[in-house]
Amino acid sequence: MKSAAGLGILLADGIGDTIRISLTADPVEEVRVARLLLKSLGLKFGGATMTSCPTCGRCSVAMIPIAERVEKRLAHLKGEVAVAVMGCEVNGPGEASAADVGVAYGHGGVGLLFKDGKIVRRMRAEDLEDAVVDEAIRIAEARSAKT
Ligand code: SF4
Repeated sequence: MKSAAGLGILLADGIGDTIRISLTADPVEEVRVARLLLKSLGLKFGGATMTSCPTCGRCSVAMIPIAERVEKRLAHLKGEVAVAVMGCEVNGPGEASAADVGVAYGHGGVGLLFKDGKIVRRMRAEDLEDAVVDEAIRIAEARSAKT
């Protein structure tokens, strides 16, 4: 947070050619967070941009490990793709349909897969993670091949 606040003001004004984020963590995380900061400021493009449910009482799945796994599985992508992983069928579809590909988990062990703003499949909840990852990779690789 301190890095984002301090560096973000300068970077948004076009000041600076390099950045360094310091974390009490594996140095690999510093690179990941620096990229995320640049993407959030619109200064870096490419790769997956994740939106994930912050969770609340409506959440129907263990969202945190799912979101972490999806983010890790898409970290290698070069092509741009927006991905949403949401935890309920009430507010989840809004974010899921705003992304290139998204999922909204639901109660009863099922959920919805969205692509380009439309529901494309109703699936078992345990299959949604692989489905969103596979689709995100396909979209990102197709976009990457065009550039
Ligand atoms: S998407 Fe659903 S579960 Fe997630 S925070 Fe919003 S309302 Fe709660």
